Amino acid sequence: MLPVVLSPEEDSFRDEVRQWLAAHLVGDFLAFGGRGGAASDEGFELRLAWEKELARGGWLGLGFPTEYGGRGASITEQIVFAYEYAQAKAPYRLSIQGTEMIGPTIVAFGTEAQKRRFLPDILQADVIWCQGFSEPGAGSDLASVRTTAVRDGDSWVLEGQKVWTTFGHHADWIYVLCRTDAEAPKHKGLSMLLVPMKQPGVEVRQIRNIAGASEFCETFFDGARTDADLVVGEVNGGWRVALGHLGFERGTAALPALMQFERELDDLLALARARGRADDPVLRQRLAEAWIGVRISGFSTARKLGALLRGDGTLGPESSIGKLYDSTWHQKLCELKVDILGPEATLYAYDESESEGWQRSFLLSRAETIYGGASQIQRNTLGERVLGLPREPR
Ligand SMILES: Cc1cc2nc3c(=O)[nH]c(=O)nc-3n(C[C@H](O)[C@H](O)[C@H](O)COP(=O)(O)OP(=O)(O)OC[C@H]3O[C@@H](n4cnc5c(N)ncnc54)[C@H](O)[C@@H]3O)c2cc1C
Repeated sequence: MLPVVLSPEEDSFRDEVRQWLAAHLVGDFLAFGGRGGAASDEGFELRLAWEKELARGGWLGLGFPTEYGGRGASITEQIVFAYEYAQAKAPYRLSIQGTEMIGPTIVAFGTEAQKRRFLPDILQADVIWCQGFSEPGAGSDLASVRTTAVRDGDSWVLEGQKVWTTFGHHADWIYVLCRTDAEAPKHKGLSMLLVPMKQPGVEVRQIRNIAGASEFCETFFDGARTDADLVVGEVNGGWRVALGHLGFERGTAALPALMQFERELDDLLALARARGRADDPVLRQRLAEAWIGVRISGFSTARKLGALLRGDGTLGPESSIGKLYDSTWHQKLCELKVDILGPEATLYAYDESESEGWQRSFLLSRAETIYGGASQIQRNTLGERVLGLPREPR
């Protein structure tokens, strides 16, 4: 069920989305249906071809302003698109870091020249972006990053290491939160730089994840260079940009995954019936809780994103409620999947069997309470900034 009520115009938009997907999500794209999650680089070339198909249809960067080639779509339209996309079982999106994360950040904080240079390529799926925030020793405590950028004539020169860089091995560009003033207090000496990946000073090493894929990487900078004017926002003003960016990450960038929950639940109900487990009273209770959870998640997403329309375009600390609730709910759903499968869930093999997909989503869901801000950090944020409780001792 869509978590928003549509006006007649929005209803027509929904029809347009459905018709386009019915006409274009065919052949190999359809066969790949719903596969390739956030932490998987399975079928990369096919998914890239699908991104370009979406680009030709004008479905990338829906919320980008029309003056930069976007649709200027409303939040409701973006929810509608993500919902219909999930219902159609289209491949998991590849270019979200560009279209939903750094793209909106450049729109909100970038210079006119940065917008003209980078947004068209994002809209055409011609470049893959990755996020260079986390470091060994700077994950939850992001402001502790130690990667440095020093001015040298018309360039910045970078030294340091990032980690968990999703799609680092595929990326053409990385946005890097780095230290540009070593003397300033830790939140005040940071800048957000746009850096080309394909250059001698950047080395990428893939890391194997719990499900056997290697979609995230370590990224090393050893004399890597970027142009002096490729700072997003102000030099040493990177913390404000990073917070705005994290709002996009927890907001519209999360929509494809959130709108997929209902379809996952439907598949799970079908699985429970097919395996004769739907009459088990304990499982039935858990299935009912999962159904209630997907409704709560949908409404809280609509409320959270609705707040964007009324504010300054960025999400407030309330977005922590959704991050905490949705990631925890999805982990429980995945646990329910393996419980319904029973002993079969312990047989692990890379094949195209139904249970393989369930197992993988169970394993990968463990990361959901970590990336985008770990659950403990969301609880701290809610305690301190929403409930007004005393700050944690530092
Ligand atoms: C699948 C995946 C993809 C990722 N992709 C990217 C990416 O593309 N780019 C990128 O930059 N990063 C990425 N990350 C990194 C992610 O942002 C970090 O893992 C996350 O911020 C947590 O940081 P950490 O791993 O260093 O854990 P830590 O910060 O070391 O935390 C370890 C544990 O301690 C807890 N903890 C930490 N501080 C506190 C505190 N003050 N109070 C209470 N508990 C606390 C945490 O909640 C956690 O349980 C990805 C992570 C995953 C799992």
